[in-house]
Amino acid sequence: MVNYCSYYLYMNQEIKKAILGEGIISGYLSIFFSLLSLGAVICFLFPEYLTTAEFRINYPINIFRWMIFGGLVFSFLFAFLSLLLSKRAKFAFIGMALSVTAIILGGSNIEVGSFDQGAFSISLDWLILDILALSLIFIPLELFFPKRKGQSKFHPEWRTDLIYLFKAQLLIQYTAVAVKMPAELFFSDLGMNEVQDLVSDLPFIAQLFLAMFVADLFQYFIHRLFHVNPFMWRFHSIHHSIRYVDWIAGSRLHLVDILITRSFSYIPLYVLGFSNDVFYVYVVIVALQAVTAHTNARIPFGFLKYVFVTPQYHHWHHSKAKETHDKNFAIHFPFIDKLFGTYHLPSDEWPEEMGLEDESFPKGYLRAANLPIFY
Ligand SMILES: [Zn+2]
Ligand SMILES: [Zn+2]
Repeated sequence: MVNYCSYYLYMNQEIKKAILGEGIISGYLSIFFSLLSLGAVICFLFPEYLTTAEFRINYPINIFRWMIFGGLVFSFLFAFLSLLLSKRAKFAFIGMALSVTAIILGGSNIEVGSFDQGAFSISLDWLILDILALSLIFIPLELFFPKRKGQSKFHPEWRTDLIYLFKAQLLIQYTAVAVKMPAELFFSDLGMNEVQDLVSDLPFIAQLFLAMFVADLFQYFIHRLFHVNPFMWRFHSIHHSIRYVDWIAGSRLHLVDILITRSFSYIPLYVLGFSNDVFYVYVVIVALQAVTAHTNARIPFGFLKYVFVTPQYHHWHHSKAKETHDKNFAIHFPFIDKLFGTYHLPSDEWPEEMGLEDESFPKGYLRAANLPIFY
């Protein structure tokens, strides 16, 4: 009862802060929805350069038009709210200006003309859908179950993390091809037909768990190598430079780190002959679990926290203290760390500080580019 009351009071304060604040959050929300709508309209205008051919064939165009309409409505509503509350109207005006631009360019009535696929395209469509879906899941989680209550969504490094998130999503069609390449090039003819038949005969759910296990095992070894090999650490240290761990920050990864880690995880899935359906579901699970693991949220997982990697488990991997950031390499199953002596999960404790001990590590996306390797 006491817990419930204090939780209720806390939420009341949070909601009051959000609603009766200074109009900053509503201003950001207005800009957020207007940017999504404007981005979607621009995707309709230049599908040959800004959309992903593989996804496009399945798109429910009418639903997307309704989503643009909804985005514009929300953008204007939050802009008005921000104007009502704000001492500075800047955010509201930016949100409205972006929304008006989206409407002038066609708004929710936009049509797609005929087009030829461009030689080079980026996945702006994927970025918009991904950000929308992830924000709907993870912003409420961080708001309702915050671990570090004082950690603002707009902490000093959120722009850096956003650049990494944008880069990873916009180039997804190229990284997806690149990570499959080593598996197809070097491991296509290993004469494993019998094993492949055995795997593909397994029921879907058994295949899925097996896929998670073998991919995590391979990921474990390459992840550990990224930590112990000084040259590889230069790439992976980018991920460990996160001081404010949250759902966006998990995207802070060097491209080399992404390509090598994913390639390693996908090789066994390819070699052992898991079905395409299992592979696609696995790709969704790995993406969702990666974001969940970084979320700044104390989600009540109960005993499942000993079975699956959770935020508490992975936050220890981001601990500033070296003895704990060299633990918890697994991304799906903690027992893999137990197996190799790198497990660390003190019952209800979380790390005090996160990031790197090296204070001179360059901060910000562009400043990191001054390092010997282009970050
Ligand atoms: Zn690591
Ligand atoms: Zn991480």
